[in-house]
This record gives sequence, structure tokens and C-alpha cells, in this order.
Amino acid sequence: MDRLKDFRAEIDGIPFSDDAATLRIKSRDFFWFSPVLRAELEGRVADIVVRPRDKRDLLRVAAAAARARLPLTVRGGGTGNYGQAVPLAGGVVLDMTHLDRLVRVMPGAARMEAGATMLEIDRALKPTGWELRLHPSTRQSATIGGFLAGGAAGVGSCTWGQISDRGAVLSVEVVTLEEEPRILELSGDDVMRVIHAYGVNGIITEVELALAPVQPWAERIYAFPSLAKAAAFGKALTAADAIARKLVSIHDARIPPLIKRLSPIVPAGSAMAIVMVSEPQAAIATRLAEMEDGECVFERSAQETDAAAFSAIGAMPPLYEYTWNHTTLHAMRHDPTLTYLQIRYPPDNDLAVIDKAARAFPDDLITHLEFQRRFGRVGVSALSLVRYSGRDPLYKMIEKLDAIGASVSNPHTCRLDNAGWKRIDAPQPDFKAAADPFGLMNPGKLVDWPAPDTAVEPPAEPAA
Ligand code: FAD
Repeated sequence: MDRLKDFRAEIDGIPFSDDAATLRIKSRDFFWFSPVLRAELEGRVADIVVRPRDKRDLLRVAAAAARARLPLTVRGGGTGNYGQAVPLAGGVVLDMTHLDRLVRVMPGAARMEAGATMLEIDRALKPTGWELRLHPSTRQSATIGGFLAGGAAGVGSCTWGQISDRGAVLSVEVVTLEEEPRILELSGDDVMRVIHAYGVNGIITEVELALAPVQPWAERIYAFPSLAKAAAFGKALTAADAIARKLVSIHDARIPPLIKRLSPIVPAGSAMAIVMVSEPQAAIATRLAEMEDGECVFERSAQETDAAAFSAIGAMPPLYEYTWNHTTLHAMRHDPTLTYLQIRYPPDNDLAVIDKAARAFPDDLITHLEFQRRFGRVGVSALSLVRYSGRDPLYKMIEKLDAIGASVSNPHTCRLDNAGWKRIDAPQPDFKAAADPFGLMNPGKLVDWPAPDTAVEPPAEPAA
């Protein structure tokens, strides 16, 4: 392939790999969470993986890909679970993990390179008394650039909302994919051009984020007699503005038995809440749980919680690694017939709709809720487990949930503008025209964007 040869000549001296094992590993993410995506994406591999050591290398890689007209897919930690980082049309995978410097810390904000993992960022910030406001449960391996481009919410969202909320991201540095790449700085509302855009419209190289003051985060697990009571507690704790809280994760009684380490802790038949609260206020959180007939069945001090996260000390990993989409990971390891759906409930009558949805699918939907704040209100997102019996029953379930009043964002597609939370905002395609004029970035992910003139055409999406 001459284009690849030209590209390799231009990146001379920059680390790369093209052995089959590396190409396979670096072309995958967690798309296998979805049986639909597994069938569609398995076997799609890049032709070369390039790992720039610094921004100068990165600019050379961007220029070389543009000149050779090679597709390019940016990769952070590769923990996305919709196949966002799978190179549908082959070409270059750009591994960002060497661009991992903390650039500067200011009171209330910090600037960092996009390839830094969120655990490493928080480790570096800790002595300053500040921390990231939110991170996904994949904090250990997910990069901050990947979170902005492919993630949404996570641990911290019960206080701080989503990464796309105005004020969370202060500015973003983006490198364009042009023969002479430009370095652009986006700030204010312009940051939305690249947030949750799956890397289709520029390479994020640095980000500046608002921070939160570090709290002595302590962990608790509460057991409840019913999901309804656990959910009512979750809502009350998330609404309790005087309590510093970082995690409010609620689980159906069928979930603890699916998680090896939690099943001996949570009494059989009990729904579960996993929370992180500021240690001096943990007793108040327990009081809120007791008001819904909850009982504390596990506790860890702030010091132990920190040791689990930062030093991997202790028998139990940080509890957030049982929440958000880690719940799905543990459950699928236990029972491979399970998959999941992302569901949002209407804020005004969320508890009623949660109950209605659970009753509509008593066997096939196992409710898992993550409480969060959004736009000044308590909201709840679900990453509920679903028993998979085929594509048609799954899509029928999505239709019925929508009819009940729950809003489903289909995680069984890798296309950006297909559904719900993944709907693309108008500035993103406009920005793509400027930042990626040859249409080379992550081709196939943006519906209706012309495929680049490459040897390999991205596949058509199967009919729903
Ligand atoms: P990658 O998977 O490498 O990339 C994600 C997307 O961003 C891709 O489209 C890629 O091309 C693009 N991209 C990556 N870096 C850049 C860059 N520098 N410039 C431009 N584009 C870029 N997500 C959540 O939001 N919250 C959760 O709590 C959560 N929990 C999870 C738990 C599990 C077990 C798993 C498997 C996934 C979970 N996710 C969650 C999804 C994922 O872990 C996060 O979204 C994470 O932030 C992705 O970061 P990454 O570095 O792994 O990105």
C-alpha cells in the first residue's frame, strides 16, 4: 500500500508498531459489551499504530496522515464501550498515552495533556488540595482526552453533572488533520465542538478543566429491603446539598450475587447502594439510609479508600470499580448472556417510571441506577443489565421503554449521531469541515459524512 509507505517514510524516528498482535489489541475497545457491536466490529484492524512522544511528533503524524490521505483514529486508553476507537476503515491508530503531562495547576483549575489517565492526574493534583470533579469508573486507564471525546459522566456526577455541562471544560487545544496541521485553542462554548465527538473533528492535545476541592472520601455499602427504597435513598442523598458526595449508585437485588466480592457482603435479596461521601458526614448518609430501612453492611475510611484507589492496597478495589459500567463488566463476566442499556428517567417522576420499567420487564431488565445532578436538579441515569436474546427483542425493549417514558440511548451502535445522548450538536460537523477537510478522522462514525477516498470503505451500518 503506497500510502502507508509514504506515511511511514514521513514519520521516520517516531515510535510505531505494525505487528499483528499490537494492531489487534490497539484496534479494540470494550465494544464486546454489546452482542450487536461484537458481530459488527470484530476483526476491524488498523494498518499501523503510532505513539508520538510529544506534540512535535504528533504534528508530524497529523501532517503525514493528511498528505498520504490515510484514515486516522485517535486512541486514549481504549476503554470506550461503543467501539468509538475501532478503526472501521483501517489506517493509522494514534496512541495518545505518551502525551501525559500535567501542564499547570491554578487555584480551581488545571491544564493537562490529553493522554494522561485520570488516576495519574488525580495523583499529581492531590498535594495541591484539588481533584478532578468527575471521572469514569475506568479512572485507572481512561485518558482525559478520551473522556472528553468519548465519555459523558461518572464518579462525581452526583455533585458536578456531566463533562459537557457548561463550565466543566474551560478550554481545549486541538490539532487539525491537514497537510500543514494547525493548533487551535477552543474556549467557552466552543469547547462543545469536540466534546463527545469521538475524535472525528480534530486531535485533542491539551485540556483545561475546572477542579473540585479534595474531600476525605469514605465508602459505604447499604442494603435495602427493596429497589424502591434504595432508589428513594439515592434521590435523597443526591438532593442533600449540605453533604459532600461523590458517588450514589443503586442496584437491584439481583446484582450483588453477580459480583464475586460483593455477594458475601450484601444479604441475599437486598437491593444495594454504593456511595462515597465526605468522612465527617458519613453518619448523616447512614441516617438517610436508615430512613428508608437501609442498613450499612460495609464501610471504609477515607484513608483506606485512598489507599485502595491510589496504591491498590486492600482486599477490595475502590468501590467505584463496581459502579457505572464496571457493574456491567462484572455481571457479564459472571453471566455472558447479559448486556446493558443506557436509560434516562424523567426528573419529575423518575421513581415511578423506574418502577414501571422494572415491572414491564421483570426477568429481562435488572435495574442499575446512577444518580447525578444536572442543570440544578437531581437526575438519574441507568446502566441497567439486560438479558440478551437477540437484536429484535432488544430493539422491542427499547421501544417499550421509550413508550413508558424512559429515554433510551442505544449503546449498541458505534455511530455518533444515532440516538439519545449521542445526538451530535450542529457545531461538530461544521468544525469537522475545518479541522478534517479530507474526512480522514475516525471515518464511519459520523453518519452521512462522506467516506474518505481510501482503499478501504467503512462498512454500512446494519438496519435496526
Ligand atoms: P478511548 O476509548 O481511547 O476513546 C474514546 C473516543 O475518544 C474514541 O472515539 C477516540 O477516537 C476518541 N479520542 C480519544 N482520545 C482522543 C483525543 N485526544 N482527541 C480526540 N479524540 C480522542 N464512560 C463514562 O462516561 N462514565 C463511566 O463511568 C464509564 N465507565 C466505564 C466502565 C467500563 C468497565 C468501561 C469498559 C467503560 C466505561 N466508560 C465510562 C467508557 C469509557 O471508559 C470512558 O468514556 C473513558 O473516558 C474513555 O477514555 P479512553 O481514554 O479509554 O478513550
